[in-house]
Amino acid sequence: MRVHHLNCGSLHPHGRRLVNGRGGLLEAGVIVCHCLAIETSEGLVLVDTGFGIEDARDPGRLGAASHRLMNARPVVATTAHSQVKALGFAPADVRHIVATHLDPDHTGGLADFPDADVHVFAPELEAARHPSLRERPRYRSAHWEHGPHWVEHETGGDRWFGFESVRILPGLDEEIVLVPLIGHTRGHTAVALNADGGWMMHCGDAFFDRRELDTPPSCPPMLRFFQNLMAVDNTARKANRERLRELSQRRAEDIDMLCSHDPDDLERRQAAIDSAAAIG
Ligand SMILES: [Zn+2]
Repeated sequence: MRVHHLNCGSLHPHGRRLVNGRGGLLEAGVIVCHCLAIETSEGLVLVDTGFGIEDARDPGRLGAASHRLMNARPVVATTAHSQVKALGFAPADVRHIVATHLDPDHTGGLADFPDADVHVFAPELEAARHPSLRERPRYRSAHWEHGPHWVEHETGGDRWFGFESVRILPGLDEEIVLVPLIGHTRGHTAVALNADGGWMMHCGDAFFDRRELDTPPSCPPMLRFFQNLMAVDNTARKANRERLRELSQRRAEDIDMLCSHDPDDLERRQAAIDSAAAIG
């Protein structure tokens, strides 16, 4: 299975040292939107879509939190739509999109693939359709006013390394599994894929910085503040992150975890792929 690591959106909140753990306080920080494009036996599968073409035209679509507070800078060239084409595929080759959750920095590109099935953990779609007062600002209905082909999933007792899970897309040769990790949102889920005998796990916003999985864990203060602020269930979020940390240490050889917003982790993966291509 070939997996492409894409940055489908950049956010630049103030105070780089507080956001990235290095650099100056007066510099802008860097947060990426790490999405995956997976080549499967049945076309391309995207994990999340970052910002979309319409967001680049009108960043106000992202809402005040993303646009102004987090200083989102959507541009057409980094949309999943543009990057899929740059990889040599047609946008229509994207048959399935798997959403870790429905915050606007993950859903902007849905409208750029209107024919794809969009897989989501059922409680997340329920939250987006019927948000509480507190949830209302985060869900941007403009991102799904085109009427996506939603495919809702519930867990049914399957276990994956001790976590609840549900296998999706059973028709594929490749195995793709939702591993719900609620806390950041009501229906937030990780997406695990069995690639070449090992598992890659896209953990979405279950953590924001790879160093949160270290022993001892660490996280730049602005990211810690932001995660506490945004969580609908902060106790569940912290407990799930701790379970991930424990799993990542216990099964380091079997499971490779990544998250949505860590620029250094994304850059390291892209550089590793580029150097492998140069050698090959
Ligand atoms: Zn996010």
